[in-house]
Amino acid sequence: MHKISARQCTLGGTVSFDGIGVHSATPITLVIKPAPAGSGYLISRTLEDGRVVGPVIADFSRVTRTTLCTTVDLGDSVSVATIEHVISALSGLGIDNAMISLNGPECPIMDGSAAPFVEAIIAKGLQVQVAMRKYIKILRTVTVRNNDSFAALEPYNGRALDLEIDFNNKTIGRQRMIFEWTPRRYVEDVSRARTFGCMKDAQVLRQAGYALGSSMENSIAIENDKILNPEPLRYQDEFVRHKLLDAVGDLALSGMPLYGRFKSYKGGHALNALVLTSLFANKANYEIVSADELPLAFDSLDDLPEGLDLKSYLRSVG
Ligand SMILES: [Zn+2]
Repeated sequence: MHKISARQCTLGGTVSFDGIGVHSATPITLVIKPAPAGSGYLISRTLEDGRVVGPVIADFSRVTRTTLCTTVDLGDSVSVATIEHVISALSGLGIDNAMISLNGPECPIMDGSAAPFVEAIIAKGLQVQVAMRKYIKILRTVTVRNNDSFAALEPYNGRALDLEIDFNNKTIGRQRMIFEWTPRRYVEDVSRARTFGCMKDAQVLRQAGYALGSSMENSIAIENDKILNPEPLRYQDEFVRHKLLDAVGDLALSGMPLYGRFKSYKGGHALNALVLTSLFANKANYEIVSADELPLAFDSLDDLPEGLDLKSYLRSVG
């Protein structure tokens, strides 16, 4: 008898978010719906003239830009930016299949973390599907480098991230986080970490047409080694936790959950995308395994966050 956690999951119901794009500053509505087993993360965008582009599978092969955020191409010269926090919430909660639709050029930034998405999804519960979950099991270490920064995927009995940042700024400095994934740990230790930026960079970005919607409502603002936000940090090392949140989202563009360990030093969206491309460049680097072929000890979905129900068992949503 297979455990429930070996099955694929989708959302227990539809969730909807109204917010603004952190770069475009335009109002955007994002809707996430349950999706059939085997679909992965589907994404579509409704244009101003009412035309719908997509849905397409949001995976690494569609990543077109990694400057400041992760952008995926939907075809017809239409793209969606800043998808990493939404995808991070889905992946972090152990959701395999979801239909994401929005009516603007980027996902709404909300409070700069994944918490608003996580809370709304938890309120609806998860729906366990008939199909067995599949993992991409890392067989050989793959490393990508850029100067002194690197990102790597390596064989490991579980799902872990080991991430370190090193900023030339006293407020951020050097921080490291080692994270063994379970949905509960993701919600408690990762999901609330907000994005951050330096005021002097923000001025340059705004002149270039980026970060037009950024504010202290959705970012930690740093100026001269000081945090300007009136409220305290949500975690003492919130910066590395946010980078880990980003990595969870970027790595979920592998198409299926990764079984192995991710390591990163001074990394970001570009190296996260590159390490996936390198992984899939050689079939000897990985294999697709069914959850029932993995050690029984790996039952991460048993560690659910408070308030999250598995609403209905083994019921396909079509
Ligand atoms: Zn981020």
